[in-house]
Amino acid sequence: ARMMEIRQQNCSPMTMKVTYYKEPVFIHQGYMQWLWDVDGRRYLDLFAGVATVSVGHCHPKVRAAAEQQMKKLWHTTNIYVYPTLHEYCEKLVSYFPDPLKVIYLTNSGSEANDLAMLMARLHTGNYDIITLRGSYHGGSPQAMGLTSNAAYKYPIANGLGCTNTMCPDVFRGPWGGSHCRDSPVQTTRECSCAQGICMANEQYIGQLQETLATSVPTRIAAFFGEPIQGVGGAVQYPKNYLKQAYKLVRERGGICIADEVQTGFGRTGSHFWGFQGHDVIPDMVTMAKGIGNGFPMGAVVTTPEIAASFAKGIHFNTFGGNPVACAVASSVLDIIKEDGTQKVSLDVGSYLMVELAKLRDKYEIIGDVRGKGLQIGVEMVKDKVSRDPLSHQDMVEIFEDVKDMGVLIGKGGVYGQVVKNIMLSSPQHPRTI
Ligand code: PMP
Repeated sequence: ARMMEIRQQNCSPMTMKVTYYKEPVFIHQGYMQWLWDVDGRRYLDLFAGVATVSVGHCHPKVRAAAEQQMKKLWHTTNIYVYPTLHEYCEKLVSYFPDPLKVIYLTNSGSEANDLAMLMARLHTGNYDIITLRGSYHGGSPQAMGLTSNAAYKYPIANGLGCTNTMCPDVFRGPWGGSHCRDSPVQTTRECSCAQGICMANEQYIGQLQETLATSVPTRIAAFFGEPIQGVGGAVQYPKNYLKQAYKLVRERGGICIADEVQTGFGRTGSHFWGFQGHDVIPDMVTMAKGIGNGFPMGAVVTTPEIAASFAKGIHFNTFGGNPVACAVASSVLDIIKEDGTQKVSLDVGSYLMVELAKLRDKYEIIGDVRGKGLQIGVEMVKDKVSRDPLSHQDMVEIFEDVKDMGVLIGKGGVYGQVVKNIMLSSPQHPRTI
């Protein structure tokens, strides 16, 4: 009761309408995939601190890297040249294809997206930005403008110059979960029917074309898209959607930005970056969350050409590239490699997809199972015919029941109707899913 009182009165009280549990869960300790509450009850954390803990809570190697760096230096700013920052940037850049070569370090995903918007506008000389409906790109006033998910928007941060286009959400589209002419029961987004020119692509690319023609008064500065929509509910686009969207946007003079805040660092299993699953190379990639395994950090990577346009002004960030953050992030990259975390994501994710699909076939309230690796969404519906989202009360009941079983899960979707299940657990620690 005392902690709740402090939270309500002094400590950024919860303003979100979305609640997960009937009673608050007081967490005070974590280790790898486990969390413990103040009464010593252990939970399997499948939400991973909102898709952030990429290699495990309090991973011993991450802790050691932070401690080592703390002994040497924990702040300077990037006015000075110091090895930890430069070694990290060199290492992170090696995970990107050409021409993505220049890194800017920030403290969060919102900050990274703010910076990306600024750079896109400076580089192109254009102002308008297109994002996908249902997306979440951050909580700063600028990034909130990119965000289209109404639950996370304040009316004054409506995003001057930001236009939303339809999100290629196959399940919520007009085809009842299918989008393929050849196979009416086809639900996978990875099919290659007619070279990927499926009904969903025709419709959604058509809508993007219309948005470009009618809602973008100047030439476009950028198109922002997550490779798999996270907060939007693990929405996975049909094959080739992003490829076609990038082409259209570039034809109109815009640049293409992939928000990898949730999908990066091996979470999707088959690739290190979500965009690699779409056979595209963005002009800019923003990242956060998994980059620091919970340490506050974010980054933008872009091309030397775009960086040169940006270099005309002054850019300074007191904490961006903080030495401890860089040491932590560097150890995260090493651990992903050493522990085979991306492979775990692929293996556990593939297993989950098969098993969850069986549940979908059995239960009327599971409308859709989708995703890749451990970026998985289970869309809960009232029934499969109407596809109406399960009510908030029913979702709370599900969360309560799952918590009573000792498991913490996440939630997404425009109606809060999608269970998200995205922990990357380390193979050193027995898989428990
Ligand atoms: N982009 C995406 C895709 C996100 O999921 C989030 C956070 N949920 C953000 C940006 C914003 O990141 P942060 O909370 O670190 O500002």
